[in-house]
Amino acid sequence: MKAEIICVGTELLVGDIVNTNAQYISEKLTSIGVDLYYQTTVGDNFERVKNCIEAAFNRVDLVITTGGLGPTGDDITKEVIAEYFNEELEVSESHYKEIVKIYEDRGYEVSEGSEKEASILKNSVLLKNQNGYAPGFFYEKENKKIIVLPGPPKELTWMVDNEVLPLLSKYSDSILLMKTLEITGVPEGEINDRLKKYCDMSNPTVAPYAKNKCVHMRIAMKGPRNNIENIKKEIERIAEEIKNIYPHVVEIDK
Ligand code: ATP
Repeated sequence: MKAEIICVGTELLVGDIVNTNAQYISEKLTSIGVDLYYQTTVGDNFERVKNCIEAAFNRVDLVITTGGLGPTGDDITKEVIAEYFNEELEVSESHYKEIVKIYEDRGYEVSEGSEKEASILKNSVLLKNQNGYAPGFFYEKENKKIIVLPGPPKELTWMVDNEVLPLLSKYSDSILLMKTLEITGVPEGEINDRLKKYCDMSNPTVAPYAKNKCVHMRIAMKGPRNNIENIKKEIERIAEEIKNIYPHVVEIDK
């Protein structure tokens, strides 16, 4: 499954906040073997968000959006998606009741935008948001899948772990495992020349990443989830060969 993340928020574009959501989702998608092909960031503008969604579905099967699900007029993500799929938004009654209860428990008046906040696309699956008001949802039409998530990282990370990954694991029976070796004191170019035969491989892949004072060699292999042991063995085999060439390499967690 090929995926694209679209992060909606002008704050991201102007550099007010760092896009930690994209990093979090990327890492998690990769771990369950979803091929993440693109990441897009776009401001809170209806036409531009719509263009991004159109472009994304011309090149991937799964789009994950973050942000723009709040109660105010500049929160437009759901409205754009509704228009793109020609589907209505409807209030999730169960979720609306939860929002009302939270407001009442805190002694607040229920705000006008709460119904908008509690609405999801008709015929979609609600994704629970344990740490906030706006629910997410999963919608699928004609082989196009979209997962819509709120912007606040505390809400998003919980939802990715507890709602999104279990859902996507059903669609992806592959897994990507990685191991990183740190090589110090050797220039990247020289490592590349010496390890060329590994760097030219396609699965597993071996790729150098120049860091401040060292080079990280990442060995990554994708395969069926029910074949984890063999994938690990193959990665280990390559790692051992590289360690024979550069005996001072250190394995690191990342
Ligand atoms: P809310 O209901 O709180 O308005 P929302 O789904 O509409 O949530 P946004 O308004 O787009 O989300 O973002 C809310 C806040 O979440 C932002 O002010 C920012 O602090 C944070 N945020 C949004 N997107 C990201 C991101 N990609 N990475 C990190 N933080 C983000």
